[in-house]
Amino acid sequence: MMVLVYTETDNGKFKKASLEVASYAKALAEQLGTKATAMTINAENPAELGNYGIDSILAVSNEQITQFNAKAYAEIIKQAAKQTDAHIIVVSSSANAKYLAPLLAVNLEAGYASNVIALPTSTNPFVVKRTAFSNKAFNYTEINTPVKVIGLSGNSFGLKELKTEATITSFSVEISEADLSIKVTNIDKVSGKLTIADADIVVSGGRGLKGPENWGMIEELAEVLGAATACSKPVSDLGWRPHSEHVGQTGKPVATNLYIAIGISGAIQHLAGVNASKVKVVINSDPEAPFFKAADYGVVGDAFTIVPELIQKLKEFKASNA
Ligand SMILES: Cc1cc2nc3c(=O)[nH]c(=O)nc-3n(C[C@H](O)[C@H](O)[C@H](O)COP(=O)(O)OP(=O)(O)OC[C@H]3O[C@@H](n4cnc5c(N)ncnc54)[C@H](O)[C@@H]3O)c2cc1C
Repeated sequence: MMVLVYTETDNGKFKKASLEVASYAKALAEQLGTKATAMTINAENPAELGNYGIDSILAVSNEQITQFNAKAYAEIIKQAAKQTDAHIIVVSSSANAKYLAPLLAVNLEAGYASNVIALPTSTNPFVVKRTAFSNKAFNYTEINTPVKVIGLSGNSFGLKELKTEATITSFSVEISEADLSIKVTNIDKVSGKLTIADADIVVSGGRGLKGPENWGMIEELAEVLGAATACSKPVSDLGWRPHSEHVGQTGKPVATNLYIAIGISGAIQHLAGVNASKVKVVINSDPEAPFFKAADYGVVGDAFTIVPELIQKLKEFKASNA
């Protein structure tokens, strides 16, 4: 039962989620007593996956697919799965992977389990633990098809470094015109900022900050912590922040190690998108704010007093530990 893992790149560079799925695939292969093969599409340095225990890499280099294309990628991964006789294909839970995985499952007549958060609790029958109801519950799903597609939830397994000498084989693929029927023609990117998906820490602001002119302290706190910035829905609806920062049920999901919510009430739709974060710190002037019930650490007080003090203390701490 060979394990194949698809590792996504952004401009040729591996995303953090790719290193996590590689770590997971290695551990899964060990659990099954088999090997994990990774496949890359137009990756700059496939050998990097050797740092996460992957010893065999199929590297695709193809100019027809320099941008993500779900249909073409699903076809390529299917070809790699057939070639390696893979019975389990692991992908991440990025937006692209969630688009790709169902197509891949159809191509391979496979069962697909999304939002998987751990190694299988049993491999025969094959049972995986998954999150459900916006991370408010778990379920255990049995996949009975011969080929299985696993979508690993971000930050659920972590990166496990394990230096391995990886063998890289170039893998040529056949893509038809029909596979390229949908094409990305242009991408506008926010540059120079840590993205919410890649960040270990996210600093998020809500309507309690009163207006966009007060976001300087949120950005400064994020900079000191090496964090990404985020916001609640009304904040982006009001145009105080870009929509790319809106997190929650209808925004981006957040599964960071540390989520700091400042002046955010903790409405159910906001919590639905950030519940999966490991440690939640809430700063709110209202001791009855619902967010405190979901928080690991709560600070009751005025953000305009607390956040500058926090920034000051963190700078002092960093200076004395430099
Ligand atoms: C279908 C649907 C989908 C939705 N999807 C989302 C979603 O994805 N994400 C999302 O965020 N929301 C979503 N919402 C909106 C959600 O219901 C809430 O309205 C929203 O999360 C509230 O944003 P907020 O906490 O920033 O603002 P508010 O509810 O106005 O809360 C502001 C908070 O700031 C605190 N505060 C005020 N002044 C200070 C101060 N000086 N210092 C510290 N704290 C202060 C207040 O005590 C309060 O708790 C959705 C709603 C619907 C109906």
